Formats: sequence, structure tokens, C-alpha cells
Amino acid sequence: MINRYLKNRRGELHGFGGCAKCGDRWNWKDAHAVYYSEHAGCSPLCEECWDDTTKEEKLRYYLGQLYKYDRPNFDYEKAEQMIRKQIDAFNNSPKKVEEGEKKE
Ligand SMILES: [Zn+2]
Repeated sequence: MINRYLKNRRGELHGFGGCAKCGDRWNWKDAHAVYYSEHAGCSPLCEECWDDTTKEEKLRYYLGQLYKYDRPNFDYEKAEQMIRKQIDAFNNSPKKVEEGEKKE
């Protein structure tokens, strides 16, 4: 879609990052954040891709972004636990089941 291309191009020119799966930029797409500490989160996926990935894929994207930078003294183990917990909670929520049923 040409419109999508132009929006992404504009985002790229203004230095916006984008979704790790579909590549759409954050100037026009919402990112799905998962918190790995009380005050910080990571959001490699847009809301659409978040809804459209399995639990294993989510773990791969979010843990991948967590470990992307080597942060000295950072508690990676605790951060990874927090991410796993939130992804589990989402996949077990009744809302997700309803949406899944609607699609079929
Ligand atoms: Zn996406």
C-alpha cells in the first residue's frame, strides 16, 4: 500500500524506529510495551504484530531486545522473569481466547 510506504518513509527520515516484525515506524503505529523493570519497558512489536504472534515468537522478540545491549550491573535474570510473566499473562487471558474464536 503506497500510503503505508509514504508514512514509513517519513518516519524513517525523521529518525523513528519501527516494529521488528513488519517494519512499520513509530511515527504512525502504536508499539506494544512490555515492562522489564518498574520504570522501563521494551517494545519491539507494534500492536498488530503483538496480536498476531505466538507466545514463543513474543519471547524471542522481547528477550531479543532486552539482551541487545550489554548493560553493566543490569539484573537480566529479573528482567527476563518480568517479561515472561507478562507474556504468559497475556496469552492466558480470556480476552485473547475470545479474539481467537472470533477469527475462526
Ligand atoms: Zn508490526
